[in-house]
Amino acid sequence: MLRTVVGNFCSRVSHLSYPIRSKFSAVDIPVPNPQPDIHYNKIFINNEWHDAVSKKTFPTINPSTGEVICHVAEGDKADVDKAVKAAKEAFKLGSPWRRMDASHRGVLLNRLADLIERDKTYLATLETLDNGKPYTASYTVDLEISIKYLRYLAGWADKCHGKVIPVDGDYFCYTRREPVGVCGQIMSWNYPLVLLAYKLGPALATGNVVVMKMSEQTPLTSLYVASLVKEAGFPPGVVNTIPGKGSIVGAAIVSHMDVDLVSFTGSTEVGQRIQQAGSSNLKKLILELSGKSPTIIMSDADLDLAVEQAHFASFFNQGQCCCAGSRIYVQEDIYPEFLERSIEKAKATIVGDPFDLKTQHGPQINKAQFEKILDYISSGKREGAKLMCGGGSAADRGYFIKPTIFGDVKDDMTIAREEIFGPVMQILKFKSIEEVIERANDSKYGLAAGVFTKDIDKANYISQALRAGTVWINCYFVLRAQTPFGGYKASGYGREGGQYGLEEYTEVKAVTVKVPQKSK
Ligand code: NAD
Repeated sequence: MLRTVVGNFCSRVSHLSYPIRSKFSAVDIPVPNPQPDIHYNKIFINNEWHDAVSKKTFPTINPSTGEVICHVAEGDKADVDKAVKAAKEAFKLGSPWRRMDASHRGVLLNRLADLIERDKTYLATLETLDNGKPYTASYTVDLEISIKYLRYLAGWADKCHGKVIPVDGDYFCYTRREPVGVCGQIMSWNYPLVLLAYKLGPALATGNVVVMKMSEQTPLTSLYVASLVKEAGFPPGVVNTIPGKGSIVGAAIVSHMDVDLVSFTGSTEVGQRIQQAGSSNLKKLILELSGKSPTIIMSDADLDLAVEQAHFASFFNQGQCCCAGSRIYVQEDIYPEFLERSIEKAKATIVGDPFDLKTQHGPQINKAQFEKILDYISSGKREGAKLMCGGGSAADRGYFIKPTIFGDVKDDMTIAREEIFGPVMQILKFKSIEEVIERANDSKYGLAAGVFTKDIDKANYISQALRAGTVWINCYFVLRAQTPFGGYKASGYGREGGQYGLEEYTEVKAVTVKVPQKSK
């Protein structure tokens, strides 16, 4: 059954960034079954399902209710050793994977995208059940991005070529772009499927093999996709997936001497630990870390657009976005109106059952995050910011928090400095461009930023001055398969997305050949 979803959710996202078809005022979404069968809950190695060597399991929880969905095999170092061995075997020269035409790797990636698309309703349902994000968002945002990204990468599989270099002397020199080898991929829980696509896509397009650890908070969709990897025809050992704790499975992957690259998405704190542990064999590292992104609203901005986008930048995915732009700097003459309209919008947000197609705002991921966010809200009040709306839990059970806005925020307040990873917008006032640039950059992070103005010169000047890996002008969260994404400063290094993301997964080999200068 299809239902057309119009109204609040779509008006909120209709001309925005995510790949919801902007031309349409309504999106057809199949009605989900909120209690889907769980088909896969074990460890995936060599295209087979295994119990953990220890036989341990852990529960995965529904954030809307706090109830256990099912138990999942809990891997440890012994399972990582098995997975790395399988991956190494699959990467051996002469193996089916290494002998496969690059164009055929593209065919397999396209097949994987097709299978995800075939099972889009089921996967969106599973994502909502395990993560709590509204099903409409899972279906129209997470699934769309993941499918598009895999297809984009499929096209690259046979286009990663080297160069011929005119070296001095009687030599012919060329470069080859070769796969790095065994890639450890460790992910956070806020976009399980999107992050999986952003990691698997470039690794497989360039011929690597993968040992993946999804977040223990959201294991279900990654396990289901592992079954699709097999169905798509990837040879055994090319993709291996181990659920389990970060401090055990993640740490074992990072310190493993046969893992050549680690791509990590998560907090700066764990990223720093990974940087140290990864030095054991000087692994290549891609670190996609935390953020505290500023959104700058100039007084000449289109106010309707700015209010809508600032709301989106702060509250989308319950504020659980690495690049959330919730540190909002508003020029003083429009500050009162901006504040008033933002409060109105936040209060009108529909919070509730994520499977209800009208719901715009679901629960936070778990109890720990829920409590951490409420602590941040308390600190905002304690340190003198003005609570304008929200500020507490929104339901009797589950981990729901109302969209919350603080006004009169000062730069040195905890809520203005630390990543909250929850639905808390901080509004700060500024006078001049130079002042706001300095204040926006005064953060240890540098992931993203937003600028709202009708003056293109101002927009370009500010975006050049901002120290962030992504700047959005008059829009927010425009994440496209073709665009690189990554951080400056403590937001990490390396890029995912686009051609830049692909390059991270290859080594450059220079081959130099002596060329005889006369025939024998
Ligand atoms: P986290 O750092 O706690 O965990 C991330 C992953 O690392 C999980 O799979 C976890 O099990 C694993 N892990 C934990 N300890 C580990 C260790 N010692 N060694 C190896 N792996 C370990 O982060 P989280 O709570 O899952 O996610 C939220 C954070 O992720 C936020 O800070 C957010 O900004 C960041 N994030 C960044 C991006 C980006 O692209 N920059 C995207 C999404 C999320």
